[in-house]
Amino acid sequence: MSLIISGLGVSKGIAIGNVHVLHRNSLEVYERQIAASEIKHEISRFNSAVKRASKQLKKIQNSIPADAPKDIAAFIESHLLMLDDAMLSSAPIDIIKEDRCNAEWALKLQRDKLIAVFDLMEDEYLRTRQDDIDHVISLIQKMLFDHQYEVEKEIKTLRGSIIVADDLTPADTVILQHQNIAGFITELGGPLSHTAIIARSLSIPAIVGIQDARQLLNSNEQIIIDGGEGMVLAGVDDKVVRHYKGKRKAQKDERRKLESLRDVVAQTQDGIDIDLQANIELTDDIKALKHSGAMGVGLYRTEFLYIDRDEPASESEQLSAYKKVIRALKGLPVTIRTLDLGAEKEFDPKYKGPMVQNPALGLRGLRRSLKDTELFKCQLRAILQASIHGPVRIMFPMITSEDELAASYKVLAQAKQELTDEGKQFDAQIPIGIMIEVPAAALLAQRFANQCDFLSIGTNDLIQYSLAIDRIDESVNYLYDPLHPAVLKLIKITLQAGAKANIPVAMCGEMAGDPRYTRLLLGMGLRHFSSHPATVLEIKAIINSSRLDRLDTPVKKILSIATSPAKIHTLVDELNNTM
Ligand code: PEP
Ligand code: MG
Repeated sequence: MSLIISGLGVSKGIAIGNVHVLHRNSLEVYERQIAASEIKHEISRFNSAVKRASKQLKKIQNSIPADAPKDIAAFIESHLLMLDDAMLSSAPIDIIKEDRCNAEWALKLQRDKLIAVFDLMEDEYLRTRQDDIDHVISLIQKMLFDHQYEVEKEIKTLRGSIIVADDLTPADTVILQHQNIAGFITELGGPLSHTAIIARSLSIPAIVGIQDARQLLNSNEQIIIDGGEGMVLAGVDDKVVRHYKGKRKAQKDERRKLESLRDVVAQTQDGIDIDLQANIELTDDIKALKHSGAMGVGLYRTEFLYIDRDEPASESEQLSAYKKVIRALKGLPVTIRTLDLGAEKEFDPKYKGPMVQNPALGLRGLRRSLKDTELFKCQLRAILQASIHGPVRIMFPMITSEDELAASYKVLAQAKQELTDEGKQFDAQIPIGIMIEVPAAALLAQRFANQCDFLSIGTNDLIQYSLAIDRIDESVNYLYDPLHPAVLKLIKITLQAGAKANIPVAMCGEMAGDPRYTRLLLGMGLRHFSSHPATVLEIKAIINSSRLDRLDTPVKKILSIATSPAKIHTLVDELNNTM
């Protein structure tokens, strides 16, 4: 009998393979009262389990392949830190002593306490991080249950299988990555869960949030998963399998066709060159950028030099990080965005004021930099010195007023003066630009354009602030609409301001990497796109199949519709389906 189950598709693609059910995370834990004389023994069992869990994670950490997504290493590192934290390493010991219970039960009580705290958190991302606590605790539990427990033993040869589990830990994924599995299905998790993040970076089809998946699907039965549609098909006949094999082949062929565009210039059918660059965060992203055929870095996010570490990176550490990117780009431009710290990504607790309740409206981006000009100047000095190694541009995030721009230029001038006094070289003509991320900045785009060398539209924030929608709040996600007429109007104002001041205007928010909007943006006058490396080729394919002279009239019509987002969507679909 055939069965169709739907869940949340978090990583696109089709996988056809045999089910391998992992039953590991469902250990039953029972309470056992212990005698006073047993307390010492119970504590030593607990300590030994924590030690072995840590050893196990370190072993896995050492086996992470060099080309594994950076998220995996970061997750495992955070799990190791948790194991060291008193909330896990010593609180259960207190419970063993006070409640006179077994170590497993003490750990369970501590788990429930921690999860209750997470449940109260408003931030969706932080709430999702409950799974970190569960992963670490279940690893300690397994060590308590089975002295010899090792993750690898459970995962034998799984090549081509579809893994069905309640949840997957980052450690599991390191091992699974070696196994070439075809896809993942999990019972737990949302779009921000580890499984989702890791599956996307490994390009493995994945569906999460299918309750009772382990009951519904049988080990070794053949199933099909469609990550794009969030659909699982079981018990299907050969005809359906053939259909999906065809679909999978078509998707692979499409990808191959895109790959063939890597060295082709981005140019419309009527001969207009379009500048296609990519966004990067870590130096590791350079490999993906090169693979994408992007012609430069349109947005280099530098927050990694400040967060998840005790101290911000020193000037020399920053300089070497920037130099690495610039050299790897071999003469292609690199746009370095100055730090965009905010209350939610902060390293310095003294800046956490009352606005922490509403971090997106708090002391973030350039405001934060201008509050700590020494920190800001340190970064500017590093970027300036890096600028002798290749074409570099500086970009300021989250600007809202001309005063902020003037204050930033002042700090920049001080940095330049200091370097001159110290006899250090830099590009004195280094181009300076700002991000247009706040409606206020878009409305004043002309004034900014007259004082900058370039503008770059950050649609992620521009949409959030224009429509009053928290980017990471799932309950209002459905309102997050790049085609809202107000958003389009702000983009248009910015493009017009750039054209009038004769400076380039780029777009580096997610909208620039979404193929549904490419033609519309071309028709609105955008000529500089910067997006995630994974999207660059798809955007190029659309650019190279479009004629600018045929976009003018339909785009004007779309922009003239002020009231109906639904109508705009229909017309944009039409635009994408013609030509
Ligand atoms: C944006 O806001 O569109 C942007 C690119 O910046 P970030 O996503 O880093 O806030
Ligand atoms: Mg932004």
